[in-house]
Amino acid sequence: MNIVVIGWGRDGDAPSAAVRELLGGARRLAEKSGGQVVAGALGAAAQAAQGMVAYGADQVLTVDHPALAEADAEAYAAAAEAVCGRTGEALVLVPGDRLGWEVAPRLAHRLKAGLVTDCVSVDWDGSRFVMTKPVYGGKAMAKLVARTAMQVALVRTRAMEALAPQPGRAGRVEALSVDLAPGRVKVIERKKEETQGQVRLEDARVVVSGGRGLGGPEPFKMLEEIARLLGGAVGASLAAVDAGWISPQHQVGQTGKSVAPDLYIAVGISGASQHVAGMSGSKTIVAINKDPEAPIFRVAHIGVVGDYKEVLPAFLAELRKIKGA
Ligand SMILES: Cc1cc2nc3c(=O)[nH]c(=O)nc-3n(C[C@H](O)[C@H](O)[C@H](O)COP(=O)(O)OP(=O)(O)OC[C@H]3O[C@@H](n4cnc5c(N)ncnc54)[C@H](O)[C@@H]3O)c2cc1C
Repeated sequence: MNIVVIGWGRDGDAPSAAVRELLGGARRLAEKSGGQVVAGALGAAAQAAQGMVAYGADQVLTVDHPALAEADAEAYAAAAEAVCGRTGEALVLVPGDRLGWEVAPRLAHRLKAGLVTDCVSVDWDGSRFVMTKPVYGGKAMAKLVARTAMQVALVRTRAMEALAPQPGRAGRVEALSVDLAPGRVKVIERKKEETQGQVRLEDARVVVSGGRGLGGPEPFKMLEEIARLLGGAVGASLAAVDAGWISPQHQVGQTGKSVAPDLYIAVGISGASQHVAGMSGSKTIVAINKDPEAPIFRVAHIGVVGDYKEVLPAFLAELRKIKGA
């Protein structure tokens, strides 16, 4: 069965980081399932079509249209539908960013496809694609298969890994002419997210998060230094955000951001289901908490029972030594 990667945005001539990851995941799946990787390069991504080939697509279908100038989910779903109309039965991977959450259900409806949102992995079991997603607030993982001919998986950012680009890789690029209705969305204001030179939380390989247990805004400076030394980003629980210790863009969880980094360090976070829902897909979870009964230890791979005031400075001192900082 073919695998379609729907992509928007670009990073110069290369596809966006989220699309590079999906192409890597699709390539690995295609090798097992025996299908082709078809990329749908929508809007600005059309200019990164060759880059999509380099990152693993066998074929790229581009759709560029004025209706795709804004993040209009209706227009993007219609463009993605046109791409899928060319591929036959397929598994369609959609990036789990903000636009993706709006596009995937609309696309699934148009394709009469089964939809699995918030996937942290997709595997091939020899005859079907099996999609894994956290359920019950991250307390369990559900493995799902779609019984429909078309299947849509909305994949969490950082859940799949990009392949190294192969600049000379062969692949066909074809421009589709699609008649899209004028957008019904009017953009009235744009606000740029403040990242203060740090890695974006959703893109970070390492996330160092703090909760109410930190007791105030000051200790977040220590978390920031650890994140900087590890090339990561700072996250937070809702309790820390509500207390005004850190801005809402750092919130991880059900009503915050979903992350799936290689390493998630939770400091002074109890592990409420709403927090765990946003980070249980992390590859390695380290929890530092003074309460040995804290629920965070149920999802942590490595648990440190102790006061962060003792644990973190020792950890930071060691890290500075290793990094020569
Ligand atoms: C609809 C809804 C949506 C929500 N969405 C989110 C969400 O997106 N993200 C989110 O995070 N929460 C969310 N919540 C809130 C969630 O239920 C919890 O209240 C919140 O996650 C708790 O944050 P916390 O773990 O920082 O605080 P607490 O639960 O108070 O935990 C603090 C922890 O710090 C430990 N601690 C204290 N002192 C120290 C110390 N010196 N050293 C080490 N450990 C220490 C304590 O043992 C405790 O385990 C949501 C709730 C609702 C109802």
